[in-house]
Amino acid sequence: MKILVYIDLQDGVPTALSRELVAGARRLAGQGGSIELALIGGDADAARKLGASRVFTSTPSPYDPVAHGAYLQGIVADNGFDLIVFGCTTSGLDLAPVLAFLNDLPLLSYCTAVRISGGTVEADSQIYGGKLVSTAEASMPAVLLVNAGAFSEDNGNQAGNAEIIQLPDRPQSSVRLVSANRPDPNAVDITKASRLLCVGRGIGEQDAIEEAREVADLMGGEIVGSRPIIDAGWLPKERQVGKSGRKVKPQLYLALGVSGAPEHIEGMGGAGTIVAINTDASAPIFDHAHFGAAVDVADFLPAFKEALARKAG
Ligand SMILES: Cc1cc2nc3c(=O)[nH]c(=O)nc-3n(C[C@H](O)[C@H](O)[C@H](O)COP(=O)(O)OP(=O)(O)OC[C@H]3O[C@@H](n4cnc5c(N)ncnc54)[C@H](O)[C@@H]3O)c2cc1C
Repeated sequence: MKILVYIDLQDGVPTALSRELVAGARRLAGQGGSIELALIGGDADAARKLGASRVFTSTPSPYDPVAHGAYLQGIVADNGFDLIVFGCTTSGLDLAPVLAFLNDLPLLSYCTAVRISGGTVEADSQIYGGKLVSTAEASMPAVLLVNAGAFSEDNGNQAGNAEIIQLPDRPQSSVRLVSANRPDPNAVDITKASRLLCVGRGIGEQDAIEEAREVADLMGGEIVGSRPIIDAGWLPKERQVGKSGRKVKPQLYLALGVSGAPEHIEGMGGAGTIVAINTDASAPIFDHAHFGAAVDVADFLPAFKEALARKAG
Protein backbone atom coordinates (compact mmCIF):
# COMPACT_ATOMS: atom_id res chain seq x y z
CA MET A 1 0.00 0.00 0.00
CA LYS A 2 1.46 3.31 -1.09
CA ILE A 3 -0.21 6.51 0.10
CA LEU A 4 0.47 10.12 -0.87
CA VAL A 5 -0.62 12.80 1.63
CA TYR A 6 -0.94 16.43 0.54
CA ILE A 7 0.43 18.62 3.33
CA ASP A 8 -1.37 21.88 4.08
CA LEU A 9 0.94 24.56 5.41
CA GLN A 10 0.60 27.51 7.70
CA ASP A 11 3.62 29.83 7.65
CA GLY A 12 5.53 27.04 5.90
CA VAL A 13 4.83 24.50 8.65
CA PRO A 14 2.47 21.47 8.35
CA THR A 15 -0.90 22.14 10.00
CA ALA A 16 -2.34 20.00 12.81
CA LEU A 17 -4.76 18.46 10.30
CA SER A 18 -1.86 17.46 8.04
CA ARG A 19 -0.21 15.70 10.99
CA GLU A 20 -3.48 13.87 11.65
CA LEU A 21 -3.64 12.79 8.01
CA VAL A 22 -0.11 11.41 8.09
CA ALA A 23 -0.86 9.46 11.29
CA GLY A 24 -4.11 8.11 9.81
CA ALA A 25 -2.44 7.23 6.51
CA ARG A 26 0.24 5.34 8.40
CA ARG A 27 -2.40 3.25 10.15
CA LEU A 28 -4.20 2.59 6.84
CA ALA A 29 -0.96 1.61 5.09
CA GLY A 30 -0.09 -0.85 7.87
CA GLN A 31 3.13 -2.81 8.17
CA GLY A 32 5.18 -2.64 5.02
CA GLY A 33 3.16 0.22 3.56
CA SER A 34 4.78 3.49 2.57
CA ILE A 35 3.73 7.10 3.17
CA GLU A 36 4.92 9.87 0.88
CA LEU A 37 4.20 13.56 1.29
CA ALA A 38 3.54 16.34 -1.18
CA LEU A 39 4.87 19.38 0.69
CA ILE A 40 4.77 22.06 -1.94
CA GLY A 41 6.31 25.43 -1.25
CA GLY A 42 7.18 24.65 2.37
CA ASP A 43 10.07 23.71 4.60
CA ALA A 44 11.01 20.11 3.81
CA ASP A 45 12.87 19.79 7.12
CA ALA A 46 9.57 20.26 8.97
CA ALA A 47 8.13 17.36 6.99
CA ARG A 48 11.02 15.02 7.82
CA LYS A 49 9.69 14.84 11.38
CA LEU A 50 6.38 13.47 10.12
CA GLY A 51 7.97 10.11 9.46
CA ALA A 52 7.35 9.55 5.74
CA SER A 53 9.58 7.61 3.39
CA ARG A 54 9.73 10.37 0.77
CA VAL A 55 8.85 14.06 0.65
CA PHE A 56 8.22 15.85 -2.63
CA THR A 57 8.99 19.51 -2.18
CA SER A 58 9.53 22.70 -4.15
CA THR A 59 11.08 26.07 -3.51
CA PRO A 60 9.07 28.08 -0.92
CA SER A 61 6.13 29.90 -2.46
CA PRO A 62 2.57 30.83 -1.51
CA TYR A 63 -0.37 28.54 -2.25
CA ASP A 64 -1.51 28.64 -5.88
CA PRO A 65 -4.15 26.12 -7.02
CA VAL A 66 -2.94 25.97 -10.62
CA ALA A 67 0.76 25.46 -9.80
CA HIS A 68 0.05 23.04 -6.94
CA GLY A 69 -2.35 21.09 -9.16
CA ALA A 70 0.30 20.79 -11.86
CA TYR A 71 2.93 19.71 -9.32
CA LEU A 72 0.58 17.07 -7.92
CA GLN A 73 -0.36 15.77 -11.34
CA GLY A 74 3.34 15.30 -12.10
CA ILE A 75 3.98 13.47 -8.79
CA VAL A 76 1.00 11.15 -9.27
CA ALA A 77 1.72 10.43 -12.94
CA ASP A 78 5.39 9.59 -12.26
CA ASN A 79 4.91 7.50 -9.13
CA GLY A 80 1.45 5.96 -8.84
CA PHE A 81 -0.29 5.64 -5.46
CA ASP A 82 -3.04 3.45 -4.03
CA LEU A 83 -4.50 6.38 -2.12
CA ILE A 84 -4.05 10.14 -2.37
CA VAL A 85 -5.20 11.89 0.80
CA PHE A 86 -6.18 15.55 1.23
CA GLY A 87 -7.59 17.39 4.23
CA CYS A 88 -11.06 18.84 3.72
CA THR A 89 -9.63 22.37 3.61
CA THR A 90 -9.76 25.18 1.09
CA SER A 91 -6.74 23.82 -0.78
CA GLY A 92 -7.90 20.18 -0.48
CA LEU A 93 -11.29 21.11 -1.91
CA ASP A 94 -9.48 22.93 -4.76
CA LEU A 95 -7.08 20.16 -5.65
CA ALA A 96 -8.60 16.74 -4.91
CA PRO A 97 -11.50 16.90 -7.40
CA VAL A 98 -9.23 18.09 -10.21
CA LEU A 99 -6.68 15.35 -9.52
CA ALA A 100 -9.44 12.70 -9.38
CA PHE A 101 -10.91 13.96 -12.65
CA LEU A 102 -7.59 14.16 -14.52
CA ASN A 103 -6.66 10.61 -13.51
CA ASP A 104 -10.15 9.12 -13.73
CA LEU A 105 -10.04 8.11 -10.04
CA PRO A 106 -12.94 7.82 -7.59
CA LEU A 107 -13.16 10.60 -4.98
CA LEU A 108 -14.61 10.11 -1.49
CA SER A 109 -15.26 13.48 0.21
CA TYR A 110 -15.97 14.79 3.72
CA CYS A 111 -14.71 11.48 5.19
CA THR A 112 -15.10 11.00 8.93
CA ALA A 113 -13.82 7.40 8.97
CA VAL A 114 -11.82 5.38 6.45
CA ARG A 115 -11.31 1.61 6.22
CA ILE A 116 -9.26 -0.52 3.83
CA SER A 117 -10.21 -4.02 2.79
CA GLY A 118 -8.23 -5.73 0.05
CA GLY A 119 -8.19 -3.46 -2.98
CA THR A 120 -11.12 -1.42 -1.73
CA VAL A 121 -11.38 1.71 0.40
CA GLU A 122 -14.57 2.36 2.36
CA ALA A 123 -15.41 5.72 3.94
CA ASP A 124 -18.13 7.29 6.06
CA SER A 125 -18.88 10.72 4.62
CA GLN A 126 -20.89 13.66 5.86
CA ILE A 127 -23.51 14.71 3.33
CA TYR A 128 -26.14 17.46 3.25
CA GLY A 129 -23.92 19.73 5.34
CA GLY A 130 -23.45 17.05 8.00
CA LYS A 131 -27.12 16.16 8.46
CA LEU A 132 -26.57 12.60 7.15
CA VAL A 133 -23.66 10.18 7.07
CA SER A 134 -23.28 7.95 4.02
CA THR A 135 -20.95 4.98 3.63
CA ALA A 136 -19.41 4.39 0.21
CA GLU A 137 -16.70 2.13 -1.13
CA ALA A 138 -14.39 2.61 -4.08
CA SER A 139 -11.75 0.51 -5.75
CA MET A 140 -8.21 1.78 -5.35
CA PRO A 141 -6.43 3.84 -6.53
CA ALA A 142 -8.69 6.52 -5.11
CA VAL A 143 -8.62 10.08 -3.77
CA LEU A 144 -9.84 10.99 -0.27
CA LEU A 145 -10.87 14.33 1.24
CA VAL A 146 -10.75 13.78 4.99
CA ASN A 147 -12.39 15.92 7.69
CA ALA A 148 -10.45 17.25 10.65
CA GLY A 149 -10.76 14.88 13.60
CA ALA A 150 -11.36 11.75 11.48
CA PHE A 151 -7.86 10.52 12.33
CA SER A 152 -6.09 11.22 15.59
CA GLU A 153 -2.67 12.80 15.61
CA ASP A 154 -1.21 10.23 18.07
CA ASN A 155 1.86 8.98 16.33
CA GLY A 156 1.99 11.66 13.63
CA ASN A 157 5.23 13.11 14.93
CA GLN A 158 7.86 10.49 14.31
CA ALA A 159 11.54 10.88 13.82
CA GLY A 160 12.02 10.12 10.18
CA ASN A 161 14.69 10.17 7.61
CA ALA A 162 12.63 10.91 4.56
CA GLU A 163 14.24 11.09 1.18
CA ILE A 164 13.68 14.65 -0.08
CA ILE A 165 12.74 14.91 -3.73
CA GLN A 166 13.09 18.41 -5.11
CA LEU A 167 10.47 19.15 -7.73
CA PRO A 168 11.45 21.02 -10.91
CA ASP A 169 10.78 24.73 -11.43
CA ARG A 170 7.40 26.11 -10.53
CA PRO A 171 4.85 25.30 -13.27
CA GLN A 172 3.29 28.15 -15.24
CA SER A 173 0.25 29.55 -13.49
CA SER A 174 -2.54 31.90 -14.48
CA VAL A 175 -3.08 32.74 -10.79
CA ARG A 176 -1.25 35.46 -8.88
CA LEU A 177 -1.60 35.91 -5.13
CA VAL A 178 -2.71 39.49 -4.56
CA SER A 179 -3.02 39.50 -0.78
CA ALA A 180 -3.58 37.15 2.14
CA ASN A 181 -5.85 38.04 5.05
CA ARG A 182 -4.31 36.52 8.12
CA PRO A 183 -6.15 36.03 11.39
CA ASP A 184 -5.39 38.76 13.91
CA PRO A 185 -2.52 37.32 16.04
CA ASN A 186 -4.03 39.08 19.07
CA ALA A 187 -7.45 37.54 18.52
CA VAL A 188 -8.78 35.43 21.35
CA ASP A 189 -8.34 31.67 20.99
CA ILE A 190 -11.78 30.35 21.91
CA THR A 191 -10.54 26.75 21.81
CA LYS A 192 -8.58 27.45 25.00
CA ALA A 193 -11.48 28.94 27.04
CA SER A 194 -12.99 26.73 29.72
CA ARG A 195 -16.33 28.60 29.69
CA LEU A 196 -18.14 29.81 26.60
CA LEU A 197 -21.35 31.75 26.21
CA CYS A 198 -22.74 31.27 22.71
CA VAL A 199 -25.30 33.61 21.19
CA GLY A 200 -27.52 32.35 18.40
CA ARG A 201 -30.10 34.03 16.20
CA GLY A 202 -32.58 33.84 19.08
CA ILE A 203 -30.68 36.74 20.71
CA GLY A 204 -32.84 38.85 18.41
CA GLU A 205 -30.91 42.09 17.94
CA GLN A 206 -27.34 43.33 17.84
CA ASP A 207 -27.83 45.53 20.92
CA ALA A 208 -28.26 42.40 23.05
CA ILE A 209 -24.69 41.26 22.23
CA GLU A 210 -23.20 43.77 24.67
CA GLU A 211 -25.21 42.41 27.58
CA ALA A 212 -24.27 38.86 26.57
CA ARG A 213 -20.61 39.92 26.54
CA GLU A 214 -20.94 41.31 30.06
CA VAL A 215 -22.46 38.03 31.21
CA ALA A 216 -19.63 36.07 29.54
CA ASP A 217 -17.13 38.27 31.46
CA LEU A 218 -18.95 37.68 34.74
CA MET A 219 -18.84 33.93 34.00
CA GLY A 220 -15.08 34.21 33.51
CA GLY A 221 -15.47 33.06 29.91
CA GLU A 222 -15.61 34.22 26.32
CA ILE A 223 -18.53 35.13 24.07
CA VAL A 224 -18.90 33.11 20.85
CA GLY A 225 -21.60 32.86 18.20
CA SER A 226 -23.43 30.65 15.78
CA ARG A 227 -22.87 31.29 12.10
CA PRO A 228 -25.78 33.70 11.50
CA ILE A 229 -24.37 35.95 14.23
CA ILE A 230 -20.95 35.98 12.55
CA ASP A 231 -22.45 36.41 9.08
CA ALA A 232 -24.38 39.43 10.38
CA GLY A 233 -21.08 40.92 11.56
CA TRP A 234 -22.22 41.01 15.20
CA LEU A 235 -19.13 39.04 16.32
CA PRO A 236 -15.80 38.46 14.52
CA LYS A 237 -15.16 35.27 12.55
CA GLU A 238 -12.65 33.90 15.06
CA ARG A 239 -15.56 33.59 17.52
CA GLN A 240 -17.66 31.31 15.31
CA VAL A 241 -18.31 27.80 16.62
CA GLY A 242 -19.17 24.96 14.28
CA LYS A 243 -18.39 23.18 11.07
CA SER A 244 -17.07 26.27 9.32
CA GLY A 245 -15.85 27.86 12.56
CA ARG A 246 -13.79 26.59 15.48
CA LYS A 247 -14.20 23.25 17.25
CA VAL A 248 -14.35 23.89 20.99
CA LYS A 249 -14.42 21.68 24.07
CA PRO A 250 -14.98 23.93 27.10
CA GLN A 251 -16.04 22.68 30.52
CA LEU A 252 -19.19 24.82 30.24
CA TYR A 253 -21.09 25.85 27.09
CA LEU A 254 -24.08 28.13 27.59
CA ALA A 255 -26.12 28.31 24.37
CA LEU A 256 -28.57 31.23 24.16
CA GLY A 257 -31.10 31.15 21.34
CA VAL A 258 -29.17 28.50 19.40
CA SER A 259 -31.30 25.90 17.57
CA GLY A 260 -28.66 23.14 17.60
CA ALA A 261 -28.17 22.57 13.86
CA PRO A 262 -25.77 19.67 13.06
CA GLU A 263 -23.18 22.14 11.74
CA HIS A 264 -23.20 23.92 15.10
CA ILE A 265 -23.16 20.73 17.18
CA GLU A 266 -20.14 19.55 15.16
CA GLY A 267 -18.16 22.36 16.79
CA MET A 268 -19.25 22.01 20.43
CA GLY A 269 -20.91 18.62 20.97
CA GLY A 270 -17.96 17.47 23.09
CA ALA A 271 -18.31 20.27 25.69
CA GLY A 272 -18.28 19.09 29.31
CA THR A 273 -21.61 20.61 30.36
CA ILE A 274 -24.02 22.11 27.85
CA VAL A 275 -26.76 24.45 29.07
CA ALA A 276 -29.40 25.62 26.58
CA ILE A 277 -31.86 28.50 26.75
CA ASN A 278 -34.43 28.46 23.96
CA THR A 279 -38.11 29.40 23.75
CA ASP A 280 -38.81 26.32 21.63
CA ALA A 281 -38.84 23.29 23.93
CA SER A 282 -38.49 20.99 20.90
CA ALA A 283 -35.33 22.69 19.55
CA PRO A 284 -32.63 20.09 18.72
CA ILE A 285 -30.15 21.79 21.08
CA PHE A 286 -32.07 20.20 23.98
CA ASP A 287 -31.10 16.74 22.62
CA HIS A 288 -27.48 17.65 23.39
CA ALA A 289 -27.90 19.82 26.49
CA HIS A 290 -27.30 18.51 30.01
CA PHE A 291 -29.47 21.32 31.44
CA GLY A 292 -31.93 23.64 29.75
CA ALA A 293 -34.85 25.98 30.11
CA ALA A 294 -37.54 26.92 27.60
CA VAL A 295 -37.43 30.63 28.35
CA ASP A 296 -36.89 33.86 26.43
CA VAL A 297 -33.24 35.02 26.20
CA ALA A 298 -34.47 38.55 26.79
CA ASP A 299 -35.78 37.45 30.22
CA PHE A 300 -32.87 35.12 31.01
CA LEU A 301 -29.93 37.46 30.28
CA PRO A 302 -30.70 40.32 32.74
CA ALA A 303 -31.77 37.89 35.47
CA PHE A 304 -28.64 35.74 35.05
CA LYS A 305 -26.42 38.84 34.91
CA GLU A 306 -27.90 40.11 38.14
CA ALA A 307 -27.42 36.72 39.83
CA LEU A 308 -23.76 36.54 38.70
CA ALA A 309 -23.08 40.14 39.77
CA ARG A 310 -24.62 39.45 43.19
CA LYS A 311 -22.44 36.37 43.57
CA ALA A 312 -19.31 38.25 42.49
CA GLY A 313 -19.70 41.13 44.78
C1 LIG B 1 -21.69 23.92 5.06
C2 LIG B 1 -22.32 24.59 6.26
C3 LIG B 1 -21.51 25.01 7.29
C4 LIG B 1 -22.08 25.61 8.42
N1 LIG B 1 -21.27 25.98 9.43
C5 LIG B 1 -21.82 26.45 10.57
C6 LIG B 1 -21.00 26.77 11.70
O1 LIG B 1 -19.76 26.67 11.67
N2 LIG B 1 -21.61 27.21 12.82
C7 LIG B 1 -22.98 27.37 12.92
O2 LIG B 1 -23.46 27.77 13.98
N3 LIG B 1 -23.74 27.10 11.85
C8 LIG B 1 -23.21 26.67 10.69
N4 LIG B 1 -24.01 26.43 9.62
C9 LIG B 1 -25.42 26.90 9.67
C10 LIG B 1 -26.34 25.95 10.41
O3 LIG B 1 -26.91 25.03 9.52
C11 LIG B 1 -27.51 26.74 11.07
O4 LIG B 1 -28.17 27.49 10.07
C12 LIG B 1 -27.06 27.68 12.19
O5 LIG B 1 -26.26 26.99 13.13
C13 LIG B 1 -28.29 28.24 12.89
O6 LIG B 1 -27.88 29.19 13.82
P1 LIG B 1 -28.80 29.56 15.04
O7 LIG B 1 -29.06 28.33 15.86
O8 LIG B 1 -28.20 30.74 15.72
O9 LIG B 1 -30.14 30.10 14.34
P2 LIG B 1 -31.54 29.42 14.12
O10 LIG B 1 -31.44 28.09 13.53
O11 LIG B 1 -32.38 30.44 13.42
O12 LIG B 1 -32.12 29.21 15.61
C14 LIG B 1 -32.49 30.25 16.47
C15 LIG B 1 -33.07 29.58 17.71
O13 LIG B 1 -33.38 30.60 18.64
C16 LIG B 1 -34.62 30.27 19.26
N5 LIG B 1 -35.19 31.55 19.69
C17 LIG B 1 -35.81 32.50 18.93
N6 LIG B 1 -36.15 33.55 19.69
C18 LIG B 1 -35.74 33.26 20.96
C19 LIG B 1 -35.80 33.96 22.19
N7 LIG B 1 -36.32 35.20 22.26
N8 LIG B 1 -35.29 33.37 23.28
C20 LIG B 1 -34.74 32.12 23.23
N9 LIG B 1 -34.67 31.42 22.08
C21 LIG B 1 -35.14 31.98 20.96
C22 LIG B 1 -35.43 29.58 18.20
O14 LIG B 1 -36.39 28.73 18.80
C23 LIG B 1 -34.35 28.79 17.46
O15 LIG B 1 -34.21 27.48 17.98
C24 LIG B 1 -23.48 25.82 8.49
C25 LIG B 1 -24.28 25.40 7.43
C26 LIG B 1 -23.71 24.80 6.33
C27 LIG B 1 -24.62 24.33 5.22
